[in-house]
Amino acid sequence: MNSELRQDLVSGDWIVIAPSRAKRPDQFIKLHKIKRIKTPVKGCPFEDLQKSGHHPPILKFKNSHDWEAVVVENKYPAFTHINVCASPEKRGPYSVMEGIGHHNLVITRDHYKNFPKLSKQNADLVFKAFVDYYKILANDYCLAYVSIFHNWGLKAGASIYHPHYQIIALPIVPPDVEHSLEGSNNYYKKNKKCVHCVMLEWELKEKKRIVYENKSAVVLAPFVMREPFELRIFPKKHFSYFEDTPSAVMRDIVFALQKALQKMEKRLHDPDYNFFIHTSPLRDKNKYKHYHWHIEILPKFNISAGFEQGTGIEITTVDPDEAAKFLR
Ligand SMILES: [Zn+2]
Ligand SMILES: [Zn+2]
Ligand SMILES: [Zn+2]
Repeated sequence: MNSELRQDLVSGDWIVIAPSRAKRPDQFIKLHKIKRIKTPVKGCPFEDLQKSGHHPPILKFKNSHDWEAVVVENKYPAFTHINVCASPEKRGPYSVMEGIGHHNLVITRDHYKNFPKLSKQNADLVFKAFVDYYKILANDYCLAYVSIFHNWGLKAGASIYHPHYQIIALPIVPPDVEHSLEGSNNYYKKNKKCVHCVMLEWELKEKKRIVYENKSAVVLAPFVMREPFELRIFPKKHFSYFEDTPSAVMRDIVFALQKALQKMEKRLHDPDYNFFIHTSPLRDKNKYKHYHWHIEILPKFNISAGFEQGTGIEITTVDPDEAAKFLR
């Protein structure tokens, strides 16, 4: 069988599924196994918020301890807040803008409990922290988009072992989100349907790439998979805005995310990964009703080679159907 080019329904990007180069999932995992280095609690900057200068936190969430999750300022921010908005300027032929925005962290209490290991209540609290702080940021009219993501492991960009999550608020809509919104809008204009709802309907009927589902959420390996074992989590019903999702639906999504990461940790031997939220921008709330917010999980297995760098076409050596079967 020849390799197959597949075009993403939203972005229009092409990828290659290369079965002749493809590895069986178990072979692939053996080849890419990593050893996780757990930095000890002693010397961890997130153990004592007072000592690390994160006290008092901006928001604090409790269960049994005096705190389970906190929102704090990042001490080394990529974007900083001042009381003016950023505006684009010209430098030669280029557009530049001051890096005005916010860069915050959500820190969970237990040094050894990353997202799949958190209790259900504490996992829900992390998302409550995301939503509550998101709504505070939404009041800042200088901001255009809030990006929420998690880095697990060195290859995913986590410089501190202690589990933490990042919230970066930007004065622009970032390019990947812009492309996703544009693709969704174009599909809607042509077909009068949400592109993600159409994909979900097909995937739920085919069942080949579904990894997990509950009442309101589904985890699947995308048909157009860019990275081996990439997963996406969708609310089954159409919601455009992450922050306006009903709490019962959000609890199902959080549970699905934990399930997906638990399966990855067990079946793929705890790989490094990123997960992030793709949602609608903060402004022009009526404009993005066509969009369907979701979470993407990208394990860090691949090293991009010249072909990927030079063409933007990812060659995936694991079949998405096989990946889903292996993870289920
Ligand atoms: Zn720690
Ligand atoms: Zn939809
Ligand atoms: Zn996305």
